[in-house]
Amino acid sequence: MAASPTTKVVADGKVVAIHYTLTDDKGEVLDSSNGRDPLEYLHGAGNIVPGLEEKLSGRAAGERLKVSVEPEMGYGKHDPRGVQRVPRSEFPSDVQIEAGMQFSAENDQGEVAVVWIVGVEAEHVVIDMNHPLAGKTLHFDVTISGIREATREEAQHGHPHGPHGHHH
Ligand code: ZN
Repeated sequence: MAASPTTKVVADGKVVAIHYTLTDDKGEVLDSSNGRDPLEYLHGAGNIVPGLEEKLSGRAAGERLKVSVEPEMGYGKHDPRGVQRVPRSEFPSDVQIEAGMQFSAENDQGEVAVVWIVGVEAEHVVIDMNHPLAGKTLHFDVTISGIREATREEAQHGHPHGPHGHHH
């Protein structure tokens, strides 16, 4: 009896390994797994952007696909309200603040969010609470290098644990 085809294609509950190169509209490489191990993610768990996850569904190991993901299905639109000027004194005084740095900050509701430094002025720091890839159309060149069943622990945690055991 042949194995069910569902064991061989990308579907919810599978740990999928992908090699990928992500470029922007100008073809500039933003991120790539080149020279690294493939990225493992748990399909259906929101580990990767929804637009890419959707396009990988039903694909088989070894398949290569090129996917363009609009911001709405990627890291979201860029919200101008997320760009704010904050007094320098709100940041640790012993840290050299530079554009491109990342901090975690607590908002008025007590939620912790990541903010990116986009500018430094004399008395203020300009922060952006949007993801750095917000507002960008993402162009992925993806090769599926492996598909396996998630372990029970991985399924419970909502992410893969990789070949070296548990690391968060
Ligand atoms: Zn875990």
